Amino acid sequence: MTVADQISYYGDRLAILAHHYQADAIVDHAHFVGDSLELARRVTELAAEHIVFCGVHFMAESAAILARPEQKVHAPVLEAGCVMANMAPASLLAVVLARLCQSGARVVPLTYVNSSAAIKAVVGRHGGAVCTSANAPRMLRWALDAGDAVLFLPDANLGANTARVLGLPHTSVQRLDLRASGNHVPPAQPSIRVYLWPGCCAVHHKIRLADIERLRRHHPEARILVHPECRPEVVAASDGAGSTSYLIREAAAAPSGSTLAIGTEDNLVQRLARRHPEVTILPVRQVLCSNMAKTDLAALQAKLAELEIAHPVRVDAKTAGAAREALERMLAACASGA
Ligand code: SF4
Repeated sequence: MTVADQISYYGDRLAILAHHYQADAIVDHAHFVGDSLELARRVTELAAEHIVFCGVHFMAESAAILARPEQKVHAPVLEAGCVMANMAPASLLAVVLARLCQSGARVVPLTYVNSSAAIKAVVGRHGGAVCTSANAPRMLRWALDAGDAVLFLPDANLGANTARVLGLPHTSVQRLDLRASGNHVPPAQPSIRVYLWPGCCAVHHKIRLADIERLRRHHPEARILVHPECRPEVVAASDGAGSTSYLIREAAAAPSGSTLAIGTEDNLVQRLARRHPEVTILPVRQVLCSNMAKTDLAALQAKLAELEIAHPVRVDAKTAGAAREALERMLAACASGA
């Protein structure tokens, strides 16, 4: 049976969701393509009993948290993790929060959606929230208003870039030293408003200032746009930075005959280049997510073949409940315009 035959065999009982960073071979078979939050939200609207999430593990977890009890969320490759999410173990977060709060300061944790369910649960229990790359400035403002300081995790680049968008002086932003199991973390100081967890996306962090400088030399006509998971110096040297949805919108709006250089995962850059042949679309640097690439057609086919008997991705009820609180605080803050 081909993948197309398998999909038609399940009919309405199946929905395949694919992240923008998946290869075309997967995207071509997906019912919906989007970023992690768009896809997780999509789950709540689906009638399908089986949801196959082609992305990385934390995305399937978020989908499982939001899915109805009768729905089953499957990941074709359980080992497809996210390097950034793995940089923030939940047990270490609890230690770091305890140390920061020793001074009596209220430090509000704000976690990027690219984190495990266990991290979102710790954040939820501490009165914190989730953010995405699209709403990070709004959510950082919300968290600053809710306490004395914010612990932003796991992506230090996104945290630093967002603090800069809000105009916070760099002296009020501090990157934590998490060696020695968090024992170097001092109690919160009144002068620091944002503490950065020292994690990063292994893919976007590869894009360097030298890549921007090379592009400026060889393609002075190019408008350069990057994802805010890139290093702060890369973002500062670019013409714009924003979420995956922003990059997709900007590519669609680019004038015919113009040149756009995009700094993000290469599957998306190449797809945008094919979708908009009237615009010259170049990668700032070719960077691929090896974990996203673990889901290939053979893995999807194998998962579809065992769907009725496969163990779905599950998040235990306690973790899911606390993680949902953190997600719901984000939805409420964004809905109220806070
Ligand atoms: S692109 Fe970066 S953040 Fe996204 S899954 Fe890969 S390592 Fe994680």
